[in-house]
Amino acid sequence: MKKKIIIANWKMSLGLKETGSLTSEILKGLKKIKNLQNLEIVLCPSFIALPMVKELVKNSSLPIFLGAQNVFWEEKGAYTGEVSVSMLKELGVNYIIVGHSERRDYLKEDDEMVHKKIRIVLDYNLIPILCIGETFEERQLGQKDYVIIKQLSTSLEGINFEKNDQLVIAYEPVWVIGSGQAVAPEEAEYTNQVIIQRLIDLFPMELVKNNFRIIYGGSVDSTNIKNFARRKIDGFLVGGASLEALEFLKIIELCSSI
Ligand code: PEP
Repeated sequence: MKKKIIIANWKMSLGLKETGSLTSEILKGLKKIKNLQNLEIVLCPSFIALPMVKELVKNSSLPIFLGAQNVFWEEKGAYTGEVSVSMLKELGVNYIIVGHSERRDYLKEDDEMVHKKIRIVLDYNLIPILCIGETFEERQLGQKDYVIIKQLSTSLEGINFEKNDQLVIAYEPVWVIGSGQAVAPEEAEYTNQVIIQRLIDLFPMELVKNNFRIIYGGSVDSTNIKNFARRKIDGFLVGGASLEALEFLKIIELCSSI
């Protein structure tokens, strides 16, 4: 059985001190939660906090992994301000978020760039977390499924997944991110099926079944997580609700008990 994955995306919300305290509180709380064996927890701090978070989690026997919020698609060179996948690997990063809607919106990251990023992340045997999802306007135009299928196709078509490569796809309706109002769990589950269908069209069934996890993100919190966790959803990308240790721990505990 695939382990459910719970990813904390701390965006640009915390300074170093705050990141250290939050990580320590989460680690302390996790030790008290039973049944963590079926979960993977990924912390995605800012780039500058990665070494510190790595140091804090390194001796814990908890299923906790390090994630980056972005990466550049070239290996090295004159790309001022960018961070390469080998640098992230050196820091002990396991997962890398690619194509988050905030980057698509503010930095004009498109599906071609996302494609190149996924390629290089896989080349270095790390795990991409590909974010996809429709905007409110696209939804109002009745284009939701079309947008998702197109994002998946352009980002993934032509990528040769090796036997041990893994991929996480996060369905994140852009209009609910940070809104406090998640979509209905049945809709998240339905969209996951749309995603799986496209993946099966693109890749061998065994790969889709064993190596890909399809998760949901968008205003998940401790009050709604149970209804999502009961669905066919492989995990959650959590923004705002992961910034408070007790709230994030509650989400993890509720997931661990289902
Ligand atoms: C996100 O930004 O990926 C996210 C899911 O944020 P929030 O949980 O705050 O909606």
